[in-house]
Amino acid sequence: MEPIYEGKAKRLYTTDDPNVLRMEYKDSATAFNGEKKEDFENKGRFNKAITLIIYRMLEEKGVKTHLVQDVDDINLLVNKVSIMPLEVIVRNVAAGSFSKRMGVTEGTAFKKPIVEFSYKDDALGDPFINDDYAREMGAATEEEMAYIKQQVLTINEVLKEFFLKAKLRLIDFKVEFGRLSTDPSQIVLADEISPDTCRLWDVETGKKMDKDRFRRGLGGFMEAYAEVLERLSK
Ligand code: UDP
Repeated sequence: MEPIYEGKAKRLYTTDDPNVLRMEYKDSATAFNGEKKEDFENKGRFNKAITLIIYRMLEEKGVKTHLVQDVDDINLLVNKVSIMPLEVIVRNVAAGSFSKRMGVTEGTAFKKPIVEFSYKDDALGDPFINDDYAREMGAATEEEMAYIKQQVLTINEVLKEFFLKAKLRLIDFKVEFGRLSTDPSQIVLADEISPDTCRLWDVETGKKMDKDRFRRGLGGFMEAYAEVLERLSK
């Protein structure tokens, strides 16, 4: 069966239900807009399992997601959505592009979380945008941007607490939202939430337990993902 879409980390397939898709998690890791690329055994399995645990937990807390049901090791059924061209990032602690752009040492905690938006467009290099840009680019209305901001702040609080129980500090994360194919006025959390899309540091040692191990060539990449899954499964 041919996928209807193939991205850097996932493939999408149709199902018998036109409003439901099967999402397959791949073993490939990419960084720096696809410049660095390598396959890692079990990566798809880890990210699928971690996303499933987190999405189920978020649904229980009242956060609407695209999740329909678990399928197998590397597949989930999800509601068909049209992904909004926005990367929504929440930061609790300075790291990555924030530290680089602002000259702030990694690990500096913020007084309150920062929410920022990028316009999803590889050719443009996912530029930094604000609410006004999003409105004028037709990505989301002002009301939708306000809703998304409120949603991600709630998600941040839930995730921070959840990871802390697993002795992990949530530094920052990226999420995406989509409009349900059955009702485009309904915006739900879509895509994955995994160590590919979150920065997670061990509470006690500060060890990086996320994709920075790959980006920065720190070694022990899949071992860290296995450990995150094990801690979240307890
Ligand atoms: N992130 C992501 N996909 C992207 C860009 C960022 O999942 O295309 C995540 C990244 O893993 C981190 C957070 O968003 O948890 C903030 O990333 P940052 O803006 O610091 O960029 P990076 O350092 O990854 O270039």
